Amino acid sequence: MSWERAIIHLDMDAFYASVEQRDNPALKGKPVIVGGHPQRGVVLAASYEVRPFGVRSAMPMGRAIKLAPKAIVVPPRFEAYVDASEAVFRIFERYTPLIEPLSLDEAFLDVTGSQALFGDPILLAQRIRAEIRDELHLPASAGIAEVKFVAKIASDSGKPAGQKVVLPGTSKEFLAPLPVSRLWGVGPKTEEQLLRLGLKTIGDVAAKDLEWLTRHLGSSGQHFWELSNAIDPRSVVPDRDAKSIGAQDTFEEDLRGEEALSPHLHGQALRVGRRLRKSGLKGRCVQLTVKYDDFQSITRRKTLEVPTDDGQVLYREARGLLSKVDLSRKIRLTGVSAQELVGAGEQLGLFAPEAPPKNDKLNQALDKIAAKFGTKAVVTADLADGDAFSQRDGFYSEEKQARAKAAQALPKDAVRVVRDDE
Ligand SMILES: [Mg+2]
Repeated sequence: MSWERAIIHLDMDAFYASVEQRDNPALKGKPVIVGGHPQRGVVLAASYEVRPFGVRSAMPMGRAIKLAPKAIVVPPRFEAYVDASEAVFRIFERYTPLIEPLSLDEAFLDVTGSQALFGDPILLAQRIRAEIRDELHLPASAGIAEVKFVAKIASDSGKPAGQKVVLPGTSKEFLAPLPVSRLWGVGPKTEEQLLRLGLKTIGDVAAKDLEWLTRHLGSSGQHFWELSNAIDPRSVVPDRDAKSIGAQDTFEEDLRGEEALSPHLHGQALRVGRRLRKSGLKGRCVQLTVKYDDFQSITRRKTLEVPTDDGQVLYREARGLLSKVDLSRKIRLTGVSAQELVGAGEQLGLFAPEAPPKNDKLNQALDKIAAKFGTKAVVTADLADGDAFSQRDGFYSEEKQARAKAAQALPKDAVRVVRDDE
């Protein structure tokens, strides 16, 4: 059977915890919590072995440890997760260029056009999951459907290490029995409102007419009606077609002050730079997002004279923007994004420089090393400092040479080269 439109939602299972179990055999089959400070931190990931105790991600650590006192608590190693994520996305890229990343461990893949080469989307999802399992030793689940919304819900029913197919023409039946809380945009408040209107399931919403729903729910009535009827025309937007490219992290513990925040901004800016270069894009505008511990979120933007795909430039601008926000308060998340994207080859502005900035060559070299040895092969000095990294002799001479070369090419104080398996 050929699908008119085929979307796969790929989602890694308990991603951080699975990476920890993979990298440390002593954790295999054990209840593992990846989390921050035992009193103030939150659960970042819970392995499937610890979930029967009621432990879930985003739960305060204190509560999680009470629920599962024998669980093994592991501090997060974000660099390892970024490396694993990049390897997962490289597998996706074998099968379609239409990949929309939702987070480190989750993406939509439009495989409509892949059917001629790779056949049935159901088998293709199986193949992708098998390659992730066999090559990276990590479990992944998938949902396969005609539209994004349904694919995303389906991957949840496939978990763990499975997949759920919603065949063309059956999306409405699949959605009908699910509670209204599964609709995108339904939080606790809206859920209450829907329940008061007598709408318990998605099928209940689909059965109402549009006019009735908009009368009771305003403009979101139409949105819920469409989703309930499996109408979701949104396309899978790869980075190259995106309006912005960004990276953000919620910290395991809230942070305060420029010194604590800067290394995170730096890592985020470098990630954005890499994704821009990969997509052949530059950003004319840099945006900083800061979320405070009370969940208030603010953004600051700056327009650049010359669009850039250079992570160091993005970092410098993001630092400048950071100095304009209230740093006396605790911050739970930062994000850096490049906006107003333009093709890297386009002639830009009146005063675009004639020669490419000298960092372009350097960045290309760094990207190559990152592609070969992992993103941690080259890190900036501020990220390398701290106990998360230590320098050891490399095992591979080729790797050593590449790193030595990279180190020479870089401003001495800017970058340090470290092993990527620390
Ligand atoms: Mg996941």
